[in-house]
Amino acid sequence: EKLQVAIDGPASAGKSTVAKLVAAKFSYVYCDTGAMYRSTTLKALRNGYKLDDEASILKMLANTEITFKPGEKQQKVFVDGEEVTNDIRQENVTNNVSTVASLSGVRKELVNRQQQIAAAGGIVMDGRDIGTTVLPDAKVKIFLIASVDERAERRFKDNAEKGIHVPLEKLKQEIEERDYKDSHRKVSPLTKADDAKEIDTTSMSIEDVVNAISNEIVK
Ligand code: C5P
Repeated sequence: EKLQVAIDGPASAGKSTVAKLVAAKFSYVYCDTGAMYRSTTLKALRNGYKLDDEASILKMLANTEITFKPGEKQQKVFVDGEEVTNDIRQENVTNNVSTVASLSGVRKELVNRQQQIAAAGGIVMDGRDIGTTVLPDAKVKIFLIASVDERAERRFKDNAEKGIHVPLEKLKQEIEERDYKDSHRKVSPLTKADDAKEIDTTSMSIEDVVNAISNEIVK
């Protein structure tokens, strides 16, 4: 049976890293829903829209194609055919995405697309509201957490590999701010689904986390 696997949690908890590995292990499709909110934010910024201008952003989104292709290290993301894999990880997108993600119409449209992608099963989907809203009937639900210090350090190392230098303290602040906004918005805020299994990855290796999730899938 090809299951739906929902992985949620706060920023930089390692969701996409393990989700991608779990998907590969079971030959499932991986879908990074954060990339869809980031892509929407990137295009809205490029168009010069105010980020609370929901009408314009919704009109834009109706004519926006967001697609994924498997890549070596990370999944490649395309907006209207243009690769934006790196652009959507830039600071200006990261620090504005929570605002766009709080727009109810944007969520409705993207949740709809995510449900279509997941409909056939055999999917690992990561985000903030997968277990609660996008795939409430998913057989496997995981909620990944880690201390904010650990998460800031992981992001710092990630950045260093890409030649990006943001001070650790600033990363920590950005992570806390984004978590606050994501957990306090009106529509489907970041929260653990009642039936999700919480895994604290603070002192776990990536392999350990992948194994813990795999055990839930083969159960
Ligand atoms: O997962 P990632 O950090 O790339 O997500 C970027 C942002 O997109 C989150 O901080 C959140 O504001 C939004 N998001 C969301 N719902 C999801 C996935 C991401 O609101 N399912």
